[in-house]
Amino acid sequence: MEIALSHPTREDLSVMEAALDVFLRTRYGATRNVMHSVLRMMMEKYRTDRIVLSRCWVSRTGAYVRVMAKNYTAGRECPGCGDDFMCSDVSIISILEGSGADRVCYGCNCGEIFGRVEEKN
Ligand SMILES: [Zn+2]
Repeated sequence: MEIALSHPTREDLSVMEAALDVFLRTRYGATRNVMHSVLRMMMEKYRTDRIVLSRCWVSRTGAYVRVMAKNYTAGRECPGCGDDFMCSDVSIISILEGSGADRVCYGCNCGEIFGRVEEKN
């Protein structure tokens, strides 16, 4: 049964965006954990398994939190700053494995979050 859920407040949305930004700027394991904890806490608060943010969707399966990009790119450049993300400050936020290809969610130092379909070799 789907019950009506209240939409996260502006304050809570900004907390989640800030947790993403801190991870994108620092890319430490510790800030990744903080980001996941904040996102999971908010999903528990709103009793939902999915929250839509400005740059991404967040979902959870049990304790596992997944971030999925809204924007996808087929190229090698970050859509935000244009840097080649194979050799710049881009980190993987989440990977959704598929049978023929994975959907990888990347986060760039510039604040952009984007996805790319990576064919399996
Ligand atoms: Zn960028």
